[in-house]
Amino acid sequence: LTRLYGPLTALSNVQVDIMTALVSFERVFEVLDLRPMVHDAPGARPLPAGDEQLSVRFDDVEFTYPGADDVSLASLEAVARPSAGPPEPVLRGVSFDVAPGQLVALVGPSGAGKSTITHLVSRLYDPTAGVVRVGGHDLRDVTLESLHEAVGVVTQDAHMFHDTIRYNLAYARPGATDDELWAALEAAQIAGLVRSLSEGLETIVGDRGYRLSGGEKQRLAIARLLLKAPRVVVLDEATAHLDSESELAVQRALETALVGRTSLVIAHRLSTIRGADAILVVDDGRIAERGTHEQLLAAGGVYAELYRTQFALQDARTA
Ligand code: ADP
Ligand code: MG
Repeated sequence: LTRLYGPLTALSNVQVDIMTALVSFERVFEVLDLRPMVHDAPGARPLPAGDEQLSVRFDDVEFTYPGADDVSLASLEAVARPSAGPPEPVLRGVSFDVAPGQLVALVGPSGAGKSTITHLVSRLYDPTAGVVRVGGHDLRDVTLESLHEAVGVVTQDAHMFHDTIRYNLAYARPGATDDELWAALEAAQIAGLVRSLSEGLETIVGDRGYRLSGGEKQRLAIARLLLKAPRVVVLDEATAHLDSESELAVQRALETALVGRTSLVIAHRLSTIRGADAILVVDDGRIAERGTHEQLLAAGGVYAELYRTQFALQDARTA
């Protein structure tokens, strides 16, 4: 474990955005001096290339986080958490299917296992039982490189490097032209801001540069996603309250980013939930309910309760 403290103390923010690490693999792992737990299996094959939509499927997935004695990326997170007895599965019997091009929303109380489900899609970990498939392929048989190319991840707290806006965008698609960068910025509703900065694309962002607001950071992350144009999008919607202008801009940017892409979204906005092809209610590591907004309201279960306590307020605000 001591081996971890060097890299750990070197970080200003221990909550390193692990999911972004998958996008910018080399650079973040170089900083962390760590390697992910999963590796290519012998004989792993790339996901078939091409533009056709891919499904995401969980078959009876169980998952337990690895113990804190493994010197690994997982233990970096684990040591930051108080441990309470032997590790328990955080997911049990999770089965669902996101058809190609569909949007499935994950909702449920905090700690239910929603983020863990998304971690398994980008294969930050392997399930302890059951199978996770993308495009019908067991992720354990697929090369990580091709998976990271196919799956784009945007988390709540998108990581930006202390570097130029150009750098922060272009690593999603090396060799992107300025026209492509600006098109992505336009679609993500952030071009106006970048244009207004005297250094434009060469503006350095971060603590010692231009300080992006929460909404701006999210929109830049969405621009990055648009440049990457992944076939599958995994999104953890922000819970933090943005001012209503940012909120609307982020909403519009997301609509552009998700349309026609297989999407799995941890949804906190009623508008996303309403627009989903299906809603999965995650509760205590299981899929407790599934259906559309109307179906689940009518069922009067966990979702109806969540709606009453969380989403009805948003409903009233936007009414
Ligand atoms: P949600 O996203 O629904 O809030 P999470 O998937 O983050 O829930 O967490 C599900 C459970 O797994 C929680 O009990 C949480 O404490 C635990 N957990 C999350 N990440 C780790 C980790 N890296 N190591 C150990 N336990 C974890
Ligand atoms: Mg979460």
